Amino acid sequence: MEPAYGTIEQLGPGIARVLAHNPSAFTFTGTQTYLIGEQELAVIDPGPDLPHHLEALEQAIGGRPVVAIMCTHTHRDHSPAAGPLAERTGAPVVGCAPLALEAVGERADASFDFHYRPERVLEDQDTIEVDSEPLTAVATPGHTSNHLCFAYRDALFSGDHVMGWSTTVVVPPDGDMAAYMQSLDKLRRREDRIYYPAHGPAVTNPGQYVRHLLGHRMQREKQILRLVKEQARDIRDIVANAYPGLDPRLVAAAGGSVLAHLLDLQRRGLVEQQQDLWTARA
Ligand SMILES: [Zn+2]
Repeated sequence: MEPAYGTIEQLGPGIARVLAHNPSAFTFTGTQTYLIGEQELAVIDPGPDLPHHLEALEQAIGGRPVVAIMCTHTHRDHSPAAGPLAERTGAPVVGCAPLALEAVGERADASFDFHYRPERVLEDQDTIEVDSEPLTAVATPGHTSNHLCFAYRDALFSGDHVMGWSTTVVVPPDGDMAAYMQSLDKLRRREDRIYYPAHGPAVTNPGQYVRHLLGHRMQREKQILRLVKEQARDIRDIVANAYPGLDPRLVAAAGGSVLAHLLDLQRRGLVEQQQDLWTARA
């Protein structure tokens, strides 16, 4: 069955969703743009700059005032429609920071949207109001350094930090495994009832799910440590051993996640690198 592209799905009072037509191995059925509010609206993750998606959003907005266009982070499947939607609606772009290019050098990564220009950057716990109710930023770096989730009533819009269909890709140098784990731990201590991710179905058991994700990453770390204790290995070798039967389209992303684990282990003094080879420190 074809997913419901370009139509408005009402998920509950004050929460609606429009799915963009950008399915892929990384985006699942596509990017889900959320509309928060009733009399007035905030738009979360406007998505890719696709004419059909922008038209669908404009229809869903239906002439209501838009108080903010908010991005969880600046990957190209999330933020490029922010500028065009701001032009169409007159709404300000408010949310995550742009990627600080001058500070990151090699982070100039093809998957980032370099046109993103927010009017206001939200820090952790900053809020904006929609229909006099707060929508609160929850800083969750890890997937990217600038990632925010947004809390509204008992729901959390979790962007790419926690997704219902797949584990999150954490690719250095901008992706950071230690930060990602801390951000998962931060969510573990919250009491949100439901997560609405940018890709895939809602997560209806957040506490249990986040504990599962933390356990999964700790298992992965143990496995990588065991592999480099057996013998010096390069990342390709580790991926082949740690991810048997992996979809070939995801090999590069898995390599990124392995590198993220290795860099974290290196910072903690547990592994070392010589050229392409990683070994455990005695
Ligand atoms: Zn992303």
